[in-house]
Amino acid sequence: MELPQIECWLTDMDGVLVSEQQALPGAKELIQQWTEADVPFLVLTNNSIYTARDLSARLRSKGLNVPEDRIWTSALATADFLAGQVPGGSTFVVGEVGLTTALHEAGFIMTEEDPDFVVVGETHNYSFEAITKAIRLISGGARFIATNPDATGPSPEGILPATGAITSLITKATGAEPYVIGKPNPMMFRSALNKIGAHSSNTAMIGDRMDTDILAGMEAGLHTILVMSGITSPTDISKHPYRPDRVLKGVYELVERRADDAVEVGRDEGSRAGGSSGRDSHSEDSSAGDSSTGDLSAGDSPTAGHSPA
Ligand SMILES: [Mg+2]
Repeated sequence: MELPQIECWLTDMDGVLVSEQQALPGAKELIQQWTEADVPFLVLTNNSIYTARDLSARLRSKGLNVPEDRIWTSALATADFLAGQVPGGSTFVVGEVGLTTALHEAGFIMTEEDPDFVVVGETHNYSFEAITKAIRLISGGARFIATNPDATGPSPEGILPATGAITSLITKATGAEPYVIGKPNPMMFRSALNKIGAHSSNTAMIGDRMDTDILAGMEAGLHTILVMSGITSPTDISKHPYRPDRVLKGVYELVERRADDAVEVGRDEGSRAGGSSGRDSHSEDSSAGDSSTGDLSAGDSPTAGHSPA
């Protein structure tokens, strides 16, 4: 698949590179291809629970070798944005280690005393006490920030309230709306571009959601590629007033076939081996053989296959 004008890549994680249980077909080979060719790329996620190091380890357990400096979370994008607003500022955080670590490393201190910002991120440990504190601080003048807008996330037992649900509670109590950094705010993509020194004109964004990945990618001026390996079905595309630049069945269509790795790719892709004409037999078991060792549970990926993102 030739994309001669694309020199840098941004890609969503859930539904593009991984499903809840395993790496998706071609993900391992595409990451390898970018790495070997020294192509600038970043894996983006709205998940603000984990640090990039945690996510790198989780991807490795699924067979994907993505170094932590190739991962850009909504927590990192939030810290990057706030550091530009109030360098060395202070925050009160409702969130997990992925967010507090990002803010610390960006030079922020955590305080309950008159912070510049109240930052709300994803957590599975919301406390009434912490939310009460957040509400009082925002009412007292602290600026209200959220890492991502997702109202719910998945878990094996059913949906979980996510960042957007908690910020709604705070909004109801304070009358204040948060400024939300994660997708679909193009801010997330702009800071990602800066991180890898990329320009929008020659960068592509790969995603599985029209209303976040494609919308924000389009607004950030990127070449947008929608993959059918996640939440979106072909009939969903026409329901939106905008279209991606390209639609692919999965990232395996972006893997360049070379004579010296044809055998290995063929083995990894199981039932699709044998040529491009067979790529549409996209059965779930085709990649199970070598990439199902990891266990990124459903609850660990709040943006996976869910709405709204
Ligand atoms: Mg996704």
